[in-house]
Amino acid sequence: MTERAARAVFLDRDGTLIEDVGYLERVGRIAMYPWSIDAIRVLNRAGLRVVVTTNQAGVARGYFTEALVEEIHRDIDARVVAGGARIDAYYYCPHHPDGSVPAYSRSCDCRKPGRGLVDRAVRELGVDPARSFVVGDRRLDVQLASAVNARSVLVRTGYGVTEEAQGLKADAVADNLMDAAGWILRNLT
Ligand SMILES: [Mg+2]
Ligand SMILES: [Zn+2]
Repeated sequence: MTERAARAVFLDRDGTLIEDVGYLERVGRIAMYPWSIDAIRVLNRAGLRVVVTTNQAGVARGYFTEALVEEIHRDIDARVVAGGARIDAYYYCPHHPDGSVPAYSRSCDCRKPGRGLVDRAVRELGVDPARSFVVGDRRLDVQLASAVNARSVLVRTGYGVTEEAQGLKADAVADNLMDAAGWILRNLT
């Protein structure tokens, strides 16, 4: 018996799952959108893996550490679990070519729109990108979807309204993550 590869929703963090407050450098500044946990639960029930994929160049710039990024993800995860939902993985890119911390100051293949974080989900979670979705508020999220042959949903939270006004096109444009989850469920073919 062969099982089809898993579908995933590659979920941007800042401006999509939580409010984009600029460089998020402490747990106390996390502001989850009120619909986010319900949206994740909807995706869980549809059998989709939910994978946070986020560029965290603040690590390369020396604004915060990887340990802080991981602490923030643990805090988000505790809220998600308490709400009866599940995020399957949190993948982030700590690099930037113009960083100030030598260990992270380089070009890489995991900074979106590079496909490295998606490839990691292929290896670790058995995800098929071509049956998957990318949800985000920035051009680089839509570009990531194109790069891996997934479908893109631009949300009008974070920078999404600005990106849409500047002519960014995606497979769908949704008011927020809950609206995006609804579109995904209607387009699972
Ligand atoms: Mg974003
Ligand atoms: Zn990277």
